[in-house]
Amino acid sequence: MKLYSILFGACPKCHQESMYTVKNPYVLSDTLKINERCSHCNTKYRMEPSFFYGSMYVSYGVGIAFAVTAFVISYLIFESSLTIAFIAIVLTLVGFMPIIMRLSRNIWINLFMSFDKELASKGAKT
Ligand SMILES: [Zn+2]
Repeated sequence: MKLYSILFGACPKCHQESMYTVKNPYVLSDTLKINERCSHCNTKYRMEPSFFYGSMYVSYGVGIAFAVTAFVISYLIFESSLTIAFIAIVLTLVGFMPIIMRLSRNIWINLFMSFDKELASKGAKT
């Protein structure tokens, strides 16, 4: 259940709408802009002003996961040289940076909030 919110940046409590003001993470000026509250269940996303600073720690982990994936694909599957594999890692990290940053935030907020069936169904009926 949490996976849906993490992958799509949906409200962690009701999954009814995106937390982000602009859905496309590659609109770089808006990559990290999130709404104040969910218009469906009224959840306040930013529980405290510095809430999302903690997601930086998550982004290290997510970044490493992307780097390992890039390495496995280029070095082990395409049998590239280590230099090419390294370039692939850098390009992957740069290219996916907006996604990595959003994923980290999504994971972070989902550590603190959980899907609430009642909120979701309440929202769906109205
Ligand atoms: Zn919601």
